[in-house]
Amino acid sequence: MEYILVKHHSLKNKYLSTSVAYIVICIISLFMAGYNYFDNKLPHMTVAFVFAGFCFINYILSLFGKVCNKIAEILFAVEAVFLCIYLIIGSAGSTGVMWICLLPVCGVLFFGLKKTIWLCAAVLSVMLLFFFYPDDRSLTIHFYPISLRFRILFFFIAFSAISLFLETKRKATQNELIALQEKYHDLYLHDALTSVYNRHAFNEILNNEISFEDNVFFGFILIDIDYFKEINDTLGHYTGDLLLIETADIITRQTNEKVFRWGGDEFAVFLKNANEVKNTAEKICRAFETEIKENDNFGINATVSIGAISVCSSAFSSSEILKAADKCLYQAKNQGRNRVIYKKITL
Ligand code: GH3
Ligand code: MG
Repeated sequence: MEYILVKHHSLKNKYLSTSVAYIVICIISLFMAGYNYFDNKLPHMTVAFVFAGFCFINYILSLFGKVCNKIAEILFAVEAVFLCIYLIIGSAGSTGVMWICLLPVCGVLFFGLKKTIWLCAAVLSVMLLFFFYPDDRSLTIHFYPISLRFRILFFFIAFSAISLFLETKRKATQNELIALQEKYHDLYLHDALTSVYNRHAFNEILNNEISFEDNVFFGFILIDIDYFKEINDTLGHYTGDLLLIETADIITRQTNEKVFRWGGDEFAVFLKNANEVKNTAEKICRAFETEIKENDNFGINATVSIGAISVCSSAFSSSEILKAADKCLYQAKNQGRNRVIYKKITL
């Protein structure tokens, strides 16, 4: 049985904001189309209307996730080409060509930094080629006065620079937040003293990863240090803490499975292979006794008592499994400590 810690929720929530942005631009474009209609500027109306149509299709596509997002990307590229053509054939004196300045803003919003850099570079190249080559003459079909050509160029550069700058900042902030979230999630799941997993992690695994309806076959070991209160009283709490750290280390070295600090001087291990429970528990018990005796930091005879169970049925609830392990641990304490009490629970 595989159990992996559930990954925290990602901070990425791209689809909602993208959809909203598409619909906002669509409404603005429709408004512009209506305005141009009443202003008797039918070519401008057509451009604004087509642009609104593209935005609406992209809005619909953005609702359907990743595959449609690819199509939306292609459509957006078509929109960019469409705006470039409008720039080339657009009439002199018209401000309609300024719509091209929306491209970098929409680009970063919908398709991220890298693609927008390419987009801005491509549109800028088209502008430079058609406005300023050769020398003084413009290659656009309608003649733009030189001041308008510069104005459009500077607007486009300004919009591109601000969009790319804001997107870079947004991305950096998002990455920082994700890193921070990962760090706090990690702290939430680990015991501050011993660095092994804590009870929160245990509950996450239990609640999210182990389905008690599946055919389960796993092991659970509960380990408690014997007379730990006395060790604290005689050697002091600092040494007590060192012993807890050493205990976590010893247990971790005896098994490849996840180790948890259950609370106080109690530790727990989940084993994927129920056949290894007894053997692993014995190994931990012996290793603890010999390693602590040989460790110069302590110089005491410390031992652990262990309750170990293997679960070979899906009929048990998590609390029944925990109770069974606790009962074994209690028996180990009652029978003189420094021992393993193992039980296989089946129906
Ligand atoms: P037993 O053999 O029955 O287990 O006896 P015990 O003395 O170990 O009893 P118990 O397990 O109930 O004692 C747990 C003690 O662990 C009580 C508490 O003072 C101590 N303790 C709990 N958390 C910490 C900690 O973080 N650091 C230290 N140094 N001591 C702790
Ligand atoms: Mg104890």
